[in-house]
This record gives sequence, C-alpha cells and structure tokens, in this order.
Amino acid sequence: MPLVVQKYGGSSLADAESIKRVARRIVDTRKAGNQVCVVVSAMGDTTDELLELADAVSPAPPQRELDMLLTAGERMSMALVSMAIANLGDSARSFTGSQAGVITDDAHGKARIIDVTPGRITQALADGHIVIVAGFQGVSQNTKEITTLGRGGSDTTAVALAAALDADVCEIYTDVDGIFTADPRIVPSARKVDRISNEEMQEMAASGAKVLMLRCVEYARRFNLPIHVRSSFSYREGTWVYPATVEGEDDVEAPIIAGVAHDRSEAKITVVGVKDTPGSAAAIFTLISEQQVNIDMIVQNVSAVATGRTDVSFTLPKADGQRAVQALQDAKAGLGFESLQYDDQIGKLSLVGSGMRSHPGVSATLFQALADAGINIEMISTSEIRVSVVTNGDLLDDAVRAVHTAFGLDSSEGEAVVYGGTGR
Ligand code: ADP
Ligand code: ASP
Ligand code: MG
Repeated sequence: MPLVVQKYGGSSLADAESIKRVARRIVDTRKAGNQVCVVVSAMGDTTDELLELADAVSPAPPQRELDMLLTAGERMSMALVSMAIANLGDSARSFTGSQAGVITDDAHGKARIIDVTPGRITQALADGHIVIVAGFQGVSQNTKEITTLGRGGSDTTAVALAAALDADVCEIYTDVDGIFTADPRIVPSARKVDRISNEEMQEMAASGAKVLMLRCVEYARRFNLPIHVRSSFSYREGTWVYPATVEGEDDVEAPIIAGVAHDRSEAKITVVGVKDTPGSAAAIFTLISEQQVNIDMIVQNVSAVATGRTDVSFTLPKADGQRAVQALQDAKAGLGFESLQYDDQIGKLSLVGSGMRSHPGVSATLFQALADAGINIEMISTSEIRVSVVTNGDLLDDAVRAVHTAFGLDSSEGEAVVYGGTGR
C-alpha cells in the first residue's frame, strides 16, 4: 500500500472547523488506499502567542523551558486532529516528536535532526492506524531534553519522516496554492509555478521565502526526495520541488528566473573609519562570530587615501543586532574604528534563477528596474544563481513588485489566492 506523508501548517489548523476539514482530507486519503502519516504545526499563530507569553514573564527565558513551552502548541494540534479523525469513524494515533523517534542535537531553538527511528510509527501504520506526529520538535540524543527545530520546523519534520519511512509522496499543505514567483501577499500578480528545482528553492528559502523552511529543502536534497507543496483549502495541483537533474544536464524547460524573494528580518551595521590594514576585518568578524551571530552580506569600501581608513558594512539577523552592536562598542578602543551605525529598517530583495548562469544582463535589468522605481540600492551580493540587494525597508514591497514586473513574471490569469493565515 502506498505511504503518504502530509504536513498541515498552522494556517490550515487555525480553529475547530479547520481541524475538522483537515481531518476529512486525511480520512479521504486513507480511504483512497494509502497509509497516511501526518505532521501537524501549532494552530494559527499559537507559536507567536506562546513566545509573547514567555516574553511577558521573562525577557530572557531559559532555552530549555522555552522549548518545553513551544512544543505544547504542536501537541494540542496532534491530539485535536486525532480526535476529529476518530469522530469520523477512523482510527488515529498521535505521537510527540520524541515518541516518533525524531532525534536531534542539543541546540535548543534551532536543533538539527541527526537521526529518525520511527519504530512506533511503522508499528501504528502496520496496525492500520492513521499516524499524527507533532512537528517542529525532537529529543536530544545527548541531553535527552526536548528540542525545537527553529521557526517553520514542521516542514523539516515532514521531510525527515518521509525519508525515514521511504514514503511514496511528501505533501506540504499550506494557505496558498503552491510556490509562486513572489510572495502572493505582496505581489497579487505572482504566478504559481508547476515545478521548481530543489537548488532554486533552497536559494528562495534562504532569501526569506518562508513557504518552505530552508532546512527542509536541504534535507530533501540530501535524500533525493521530491516535495509537493499545495493548498489545504483547494484541490489544485501544487508545486513540485524536484531534486537536482543529472549533473551537467540543464532543465531546458526551466525559466531563467524562478522568483523574487524578500526578507525583512535583517539589520545592517556599519563600522565607520576602520583602519585599512591587514587584520582589521578579521578582528571585527572574529568578535562577531564569538557572539554566535551569523553574518549575511558584507561590503567594504575603498579607503580614503587621505586617512587610510574605510567603512565596513554587514547584515545580520535583527534579533542579534543589539548584542553585536554592544560587543563592537565594548571593543572600540582595541578595534580602533571611529563610530558605529545601526539600521534595522532595511529590506532585502533577492532574484533567484538557475538560468542566470548562462544569461548575462540579469543584474543590469534588476538595477534598472529599481532605478526606474526610484529605489536606492544600499548593498549588493551575488551567488551563482542569485542576486540580492538591500534597500530601505519601507520601499521593499514596491521594489519586489517592480522587479517582478520587469522580469515578465506577472501572471495573466488574475490574482493569486491567499486562503488563510495572517502572514505572521
Ligand atoms: P504554514 O502555516 O502552512 O506553514 P507559512 O506561513 O509558513 O504557512 O508559509 C506560507 C506563506 O509563505 C504564504 O502564505 C505566503 O505568504 C508565504 N510566501 C513567501 N514567499 C512565497 C512564495 N514564493 N510562494 C508562496 N508563498 C510564499
Ligand atoms: N509552529 C512552528 C512555527 O510557527 C513550526 C511550524 O509552524 O512549522 O514556527
Ligand atoms: Mg511554515
């Protein structure tokens, strides 16, 4: 019997009615002759609400307790979905991440799955049950503590289980019809794509397209697993994220540009008046890495001849911004810079497409589109299949729409549908 893994996101499980609707879909899949293993996220914006609650009782809650709190969200969903299935006369068994055998490292809040031992799931499936697993959570191999996988982590749970169970299909159900050429909440004319390569989806996810968590796409690539992203609110065919084509063999049907992603989660620090001597950059970025902060873009200007000094700018997650500024400020005398500037009102736009490798002029069209829209570019970075620019945060939505149009990505078939969710 085919084995289907399905994941339902929070927007598909927002209230009792939604849970009943999802239960009906799951039962239908079972009735169609499949074994079904379902991964669920927390209902609606529960995870955000739990984070706010934690913040209200403590500005810096212990990571262990935060994970204990957040995993409760997915536990609620798994039990409620199981109950709704029972109410439809079918039998379901729910399991926490730990019970499902999702083994992680011990990094609370951003744990990595290192092994999956799904013995209890295989047994429950063999016994004829539908299995419901709480996403986003696991148990640390070393500390035996409960961990969470990072925001959007249920996507990764689904792919990891699909790989471990050798599933025939891995379906990610969400509140839009699939992967679009841009976030349909910002670009209503965005077009749904039928297929996208895993490599392009990785760049989209890394550039802020949260429709799939980056780790989940990486995991699927490692296990050569296709993912079907689709809506739980419609029966339309979604988007297939397919594993790499054979090395050196291009997908001739693929468009040059896969899509435009945006990210509002970063801030920019400029270290002004850094001595332009060997070791200056090393000293700054050693200090930053000691704070466990991940840097994204870096720009260093040519130094002024008169002063022999230069400016170094870099972007980092907003959440780490104040910590990094404080660390630099504390080390000001030793590092020998003049001043610091901090800007958390920036936005990053990324254009992604494997066709960039063989088509020159992509950057020129991008920069011209931004110029025509009167949008200033503050930083630029590129990879083989991506060009990213930092702009003023208030102008980011306009920038995304302008670039989407300039690359001919607008749909001629009417507006994209966003079925639910708050976009949080
Ligand atoms: P879920 O609760 O199902 O996990 P998410 O909110 O995490 O859903 O992800 C779905 C959302 O991702 C969509 O509602 C959409 O706003 C956003 N999104 C961003 N970029 C894209 C894109 N390129 N294609 C589709 N959705 C996107
Ligand atoms: N509930 C978690 C979150 O909101 C995990 C998920 O939805 O995938 O990030
Ligand atoms: Mg998600």
